[in-house]
Amino acid sequence: MSDDCLFCSIVAGDIPAERVLENDLVVAFRDIAPKAATHVLVVPRTHAPDVAALAASAPEQLAAMALAAQEIADAECGGEYKWIFNTGAGAGQTVFHAHGHVLGGDLSGSLV
Ligand code: 5GP
Ligand code: ZN
Repeated sequence: MSDDCLFCSIVAGDIPAERVLENDLVVAFRDIAPKAATHVLVVPRTHAPDVAALAASAPEQLAAMALAAQEIADAECGGEYKWIFNTGAGAGQTVFHAHGHVLGGDLSGSLV
């Protein structure tokens, strides 16, 4: 738990979110400003500032995030989805607790 981290507070339950999946390693909840029909954030329970830091410190949590992303997509959008990690402020990262955006549904406006 990192002080003043929004996603640590959501993981801890101190800030409400619409949770769609959780287990011992990860929590997944709907993005407050969805950019697609399915837009879920998958986060590790342990704080790391970005995905590479998480891979170095807790790779099992990153693997659990991948499994969670697939499980969410299977349930909501036919198993097909984008999984995006904005990394660095210049790339659009605004919350510095590692998180993957699971985007599914109509993605015709997507960058990539
Ligand atoms: P980033 O821009 O860091 O890649 O993604 C952060 C995401 O967190 C954004 O898509 C933003 O809409 C979402 N977000 C910001 N604050 C909250 C919140 O309080 N609750 C939820 N569920 N999502 C949030
Ligand atoms: Zn955190």
